[in-house]
Amino acid sequence: MSSKNNNKSKDTDFDNSKYSMDTKVIYGKNISNKWDYAHHVTAPISSSTTFRLDSVERGAHGFMQFANSKEFGDESPIFIYDRLGEPNKDLLEENLAFVENGEMAVTFATGMGAISAVLGILCKTGDEIITHATLYGCTISLFNNWYPRYDIKVHAVDLTNLENIHTVLTEKTKVVYFESPANPNMDIIDIQELKKVVDEINKNRTNENKIQIVIDNTFATPFCQRPLEFGADFVIHSLTKGIGGFGTDMGGVVIGRKEYRDLLLLYRKDFGAVLNTKSAWAILTYGLPTLGLRQRQQIDSAMKIAQFLENHPKISFVNYPGLESYKHYETAKKQMIDFNGNFAPGSLIYFALKGKDAAECKLNGSKFMNYVADNAYTMTLAVSLGHTRTLIEHPASMTHSVVPPDELEKRGLDAGGVRLAIGLESTNDILMDIEDSLNSFDK
Ligand SMILES: *Cc1c(COP(=O)(O)O)cnc(C)c1O
Repeated sequence: MSSKNNNKSKDTDFDNSKYSMDTKVIYGKNISNKWDYAHHVTAPISSSTTFRLDSVERGAHGFMQFANSKEFGDESPIFIYDRLGEPNKDLLEENLAFVENGEMAVTFATGMGAISAVLGILCKTGDEIITHATLYGCTISLFNNWYPRYDIKVHAVDLTNLENIHTVLTEKTKVVYFESPANPNMDIIDIQELKKVVDEINKNRTNENKIQIVIDNTFATPFCQRPLEFGADFVIHSLTKGIGGFGTDMGGVVIGRKEYRDLLLLYRKDFGAVLNTKSAWAILTYGLPTLGLRQRQQIDSAMKIAQFLENHPKISFVNYPGLESYKHYETAKKQMIDFNGNFAPGSLIYFALKGKDAAECKLNGSKFMNYVADNAYTMTLAVSLGHTRTLIEHPASMTHSVVPPDELEKRGLDAGGVRLAIGLESTNDILMDIEDSLNSFDK
């Protein structure tokens, strides 16, 4: 075991506070009681659905210990079965909690697995959720197509104006749920101000009735924004995107206070959306340690591309939190801060092409994206984001196709809106392809 190691920096109580997050994201906690392999530099891929238990007594202890952190929190885990826990996921969870500045993390098979789990432990039949109107398409689908079956009411309002909370608030409200930046229109919600509003409401509520703030931080990644520091109760991520970073593995995570870890583990065990060990390993080994490096490059490109688009005569608007002209710029500047304190407006851009009316805007957007799909070397027509490759898509007909045309406006979506997720290519090459496509698409 690692405790036998006489290297000081490998000590469990070694103080790493003088190191930057860029370094810490590589080493994580450095030493973990989830780690059984004293001399590996990289964690081995642990791929075992079941674990040898030595004796019935040790097996019984393992089952008692599972999701019972109050009594057994400090013990090294006795691994039993992959769906309950195993080394790769547990190591990844420690490092994800660490990088979001949370007390604990529980991983799931996908981002949707994480969203349904956190809302699954916080809500029961009869409860209500307040959300921002603009959300990832499958999250809207979860709320519209499944929650009515459980009699969980979801109110979608514009949370960029916090007054709107009071228009739908009831005694049954249990959760305020949103994305910031929101997918795909890049709406920014002021987390600290929202926290103040919720605190005021919570003053008069018993502990079990307090409203919890849940943020989907997928677009920002913890490199650009750590909402728990602003008072959010839970952060969720799709690990499939910027944290995974290479487009090879799906995953999700819920990060928050320690007291919820057991419930999330039980939920995961029984609903079964378990992150597979090989994906946990890939995200732990490749994704998380390179997060800062990738994000810095992507933000640098995104900023230059957003500026280029903003000044292009064929473009009608550009939503990018780094542009001073963007309506949510000031809020973004306050809360999108990287590991070193710099403004970090992220790697996603939402924009639309001009046209004489909405139909022509949409048509021009489609022509442009089809031209890109056929001709651009550095841009790929595909959903997803936070990839090595720059991905472009049309939300209204792809990621957000669950939203009916007559609800697009209410959901903050533009019929012709284009979502651009910047990758790791040379900035000038992406710019060259965008310029060429904008100049050529209608010829
Ligand atoms: C992709 C995405 C999700 C869903 O994640 P999956 O890993 O695909 O399940 C949730 N929220 C946002 C903002 C996303 O972009």
